[in-house]
Amino acid sequence: MSETKFSVMVSLFNWMQKSKSSSVKRSKFRKFLDTFCRPNNGEDYFSAIRLILPGLDRERGSYGLREHVLATCLIDAIGMSRDSPDSQRLLNWRKGGPRSGAFAGNFSLIAAEVLQQRQGMTSGGLTIKELNELLDRLASSENRSDKTSILSDLIRKTNAQEMKWIIMIILKDLKLGISERSIFHEFHPDAEDLFNVTCDLKLVCEKLRDRSQRHKRQDIEVGRPVRPQLALRVSNAAAAWKKLHGKEVVVECKFDGDRIQIHKNGADINFFSRNFLDHPEYEHGMSDVIRRNILIDRCILDGEMLVWDASANRFAEFGSNQEIAKAAKEGLDSDRQLCYVAFDILYAGDTSVIHRSLKERHQLLQKVVKPVAGRLEILVPNGGLNAHRPAGEPCWSLIVHDIDGVERFFKETIDNRDEGIVLKDLNSKWEPSDRSGKWLKLKPEYIRAGSDLDVLIIGGYYGSGRRGGEVAQFLVGLAERPASNTYPRRFVSFCRVGTGLSDEELNAVVTKLKPYFRKYEYPKKPPPSFYQVTNNSKERPDVWVESPEKSIIVSITSDIRTIRSEVFAAPYSLRFPRIDRVRYDKPWHECLDVQSFVELVHSSNGT
Ligand code: ATP
Repeated sequence: MSETKFSVMVSLFNWMQKSKSSSVKRSKFRKFLDTFCRPNNGEDYFSAIRLILPGLDRERGSYGLREHVLATCLIDAIGMSRDSPDSQRLLNWRKGGPRSGAFAGNFSLIAAEVLQQRQGMTSGGLTIKELNELLDRLASSENRSDKTSILSDLIRKTNAQEMKWIIMIILKDLKLGISERSIFHEFHPDAEDLFNVTCDLKLVCEKLRDRSQRHKRQDIEVGRPVRPQLALRVSNAAAAWKKLHGKEVVVECKFDGDRIQIHKNGADINFFSRNFLDHPEYEHGMSDVIRRNILIDRCILDGEMLVWDASANRFAEFGSNQEIAKAAKEGLDSDRQLCYVAFDILYAGDTSVIHRSLKERHQLLQKVVKPVAGRLEILVPNGGLNAHRPAGEPCWSLIVHDIDGVERFFKETIDNRDEGIVLKDLNSKWEPSDRSGKWLKLKPEYIRAGSDLDVLIIGGYYGSGRRGGEVAQFLVGLAERPASNTYPRRFVSFCRVGTGLSDEELNAVVTKLKPYFRKYEYPKKPPPSFYQVTNNSKERPDVWVESPEKSIIVSITSDIRTIRSEVFAAPYSLRFPRIDRVRYDKPWHECLDVQSFVELVHSSNGT
């Protein structure tokens, strides 16, 4: 195998990509294995299969090369100027340039074209072994100039076709049109099962060298990441209920953090993420709490790593885990801290418990973990985290008996600005990598709001702390579409937004609007008649802007998601909106109208 040229694999890739039928793809792969990977040395299988399933290869760390950085390294490796049209095509691979045509959005195809003019057609004779060695070096090199010089080495030893596939290997997406499952099955009938409980491709290739020898089903082990059980998406509560018909069902909040498996083996603790990488950065913030409050020596917990904001008394929005982990490492004081929410237990003492029912696992979880508020929580119905919920907020996990129960829980969760809910069959076992429907997820419909939205400030909310007594957030509205050649007369409440502006920018807007702020004397006085609002207390502002003509337009953007709204009067609202800029240049009547916004929602490709 060590002598097999990478060009042989490239022919296999090209064949597989070209052939339409899955069985032809599989037989090509089989032929390659039989001809080029002799079963006398497991290493051979691994060195080839790790290039076919690069996303599952744990032996090499991450390359630290997403498309943009890869583009800059390739530009330097080839020695092009950054301003040249080809460099621009690589850097703007998403949009494509004048010559990108159908390639726009496909980085490796653009790169292959750029390279073709420089590399020519003859292969440099790189072997699979050499390629793996160079990829090892690429992953372990720390700075860009080292990465660039390894890439130029690769370019020297390959042609443009080969480089195209190497780039896809680096980006971990080969687009061969064959599932990982088919690759595994063709290699060995037990390969997928073994991989699911070990997440170790090398071990799978070594243990299952002989296709005719069946492998006894292996259970999970402490210290080896397991492929997580997954949730099947459903579109509404009725569909969810139908799927779980007759089952005992628990509904849980879908927390928006990092899926983490905690493996505790005596004093050793590992934090494995969804893609089976260890995350030692969580050690500083979490290990002590775990050692003191997990009451058995060995176990595996499944759950979500989140950030608890002690001053706001709620979980922080997604995205701050790494920052808080870093702060914990540096010993910085903060109101925010890492908090692990365990929603399952997979191993306890010296046995795997994935075959027990979820109900039993919940009981076990309560025996094994001593919860610490805001640090280490457990998610079980009628206990655990539910006991710590802030007053007035919905609970986080609940046994439901009918569709109404699911709908109510879903609505409360969304009103509370959480991501969605997960429904689970209480009698099901935990199955590695399963997405067959034992767990269902229900999320609000969301879409991409591609462009900035110009909306009008119609009210304000007072801040706390530094901004106590001052308006710190705004209620913004969309216009009701006016008759042609007239100005809008009514504005519909749309969302509440407080982030995005610097202190100075915020002060400038508040100072300008201050003379027109009118206190909302709820419930004594109704809102001004030109604003259409709901009666929801989450929307209710502290002040109104006296009239739309006096107000200011702001451009807002959001975390791609637009959600169906029940809190605000407009049919959709934004998730995590922020102000991009203040549009002093736009008169109040040029505010986006509801109809145009809804059209924008419908025309965008919702997922
Ligand atoms: P998504 O982008 O919707 O999170 P996904 O493909 O990452 O999808 P799924 O398995 O489809 O993951 O959805 C379940 C995910 O939801 C889990 O991986 C986990 O990170 C997260 N999650 C949050 N809360 C829970 C919970 N209570 N039970 C199970 N999973 C939860």
